Amino acid sequence: TDYKADKHPDWCPGCGDFGILSALQMALFELRLDPSQTVVFSGIGCSAKTPHYLNVYGVHTLHGRVLPVAQGAKLANPHLAVVAVGGDGDGLGIGAGHFVAAGRRNVDMLYILYDNEVYGLTKGQAGPTLGLGEKTKSLPKPNPQGRVNPLLLAFASGYTWIARGYAYDVKGLKELIKEGLSHKGLAFLHVLQPCPTYNDLHTKEWFAPRIYRLQDEGYDPHVPEGLPPEELDKKMAQFQEKAAEWGERIPTGIFWKAEVPTFEERLKAYLPRYPEVYPALGQQEPLDLEGLLKEFAL
Ligand code: SF4
Repeated sequence: TDYKADKHPDWCPGCGDFGILSALQMALFELRLDPSQTVVFSGIGCSAKTPHYLNVYGVHTLHGRVLPVAQGAKLANPHLAVVAVGGDGDGLGIGAGHFVAAGRRNVDMLYILYDNEVYGLTKGQAGPTLGLGEKTKSLPKPNPQGRVNPLLLAFASGYTWIARGYAYDVKGLKELIKEGLSHKGLAFLHVLQPCPTYNDLHTKEWFAPRIYRLQDEGYDPHVPEGLPPEELDKKMAQFQEKAAEWGERIPTGIFWKAEVPTFEERLKAYLPRYPEVYPALGQQEPLDLEGLLKEFAL
C-alpha cells in the first residue's frame, strides 16, 4: 500500500513539516495499517495540511478542535487507528482546554504536536511555546509572554505515553510514531519542527548540536502498573528533570510510558457490549419510544 497521496505539499522549502510527513508515511507503511481503517485529523495551521498528503482517511477540522473531533471518531468506532495532528498554537493556545481534557480521558490514539513556536500560516506571530523575551524575525518586539512546556503539561494532564521527536531525524521520528500508535491509551508526541520562514532563532543549525536521544543515556521511561509510591516518585522526578531540560542539550525519545486503563476500557462499566457494539454501527435495536415516553413523563 502506498500511503502517499498524489498531491505535492506546498510547505515552504526546508520546512520541518516535510520530515514529519515522511516519518508518518513510513510508520503507517511499516505498521501495515489498513488505509480504510486509519484516519488522520488536523486542526488549522501549516501542519493541518498533513491529511491532504496521506492516502488514508483525513479530516481537516477547526482551529484548536482537533482533539475533540478525533476522540469522538475513535469512540464512535474504536476499531479505527486514529492520529490527530496540529501545531503548538492550535494545540496549546486555542486548544489548550481540549489538550488537558484529553489527557484525563486516555482515549487510545496518537496526538502529534508540530512545534515551531510561531503561527506560521498567519505570518509568524509568537506561539505558546516561544520563550519569554525571545524575538524571531517575524516579531516587531520580544515576546512578552512565557512559554508552555508541552511535555510537562501533558504529564500534568495525564497523558500515558509522552515522547519528543525532531523533524529532521526522520528515522527516529518514524520509530516514535510507530511506538505511539502501538501504545494502549493516549500517546502524545511533541515534535521540534523548525520553521525556516519565520523562526530564525531555533533553526536546524541551532538544534543539530543540542539534540540527543534519551535511550543513548540508559533512560527507562516504562512505568509499570502498581509501582510502589517511592519508585513512582523517582520516575516522576526523572521525567520532570528531562522534560525541563532545554538549552545546551535537548532530549528526544520516550519520556513516559505508563500502563493505565483506556477510556474505552472504562466505558465498558457503562456500556457492557462496547466495543463489540459501537455507535458507528448505527442503531442496533429499535427504539422503545413508548417506554421512553413513559420514563420521562411528568
Ligand atoms: Fe513551514 Fe513555517 Fe512555511 Fe509554515 S510558514 S510551511 S511552518 S516554513
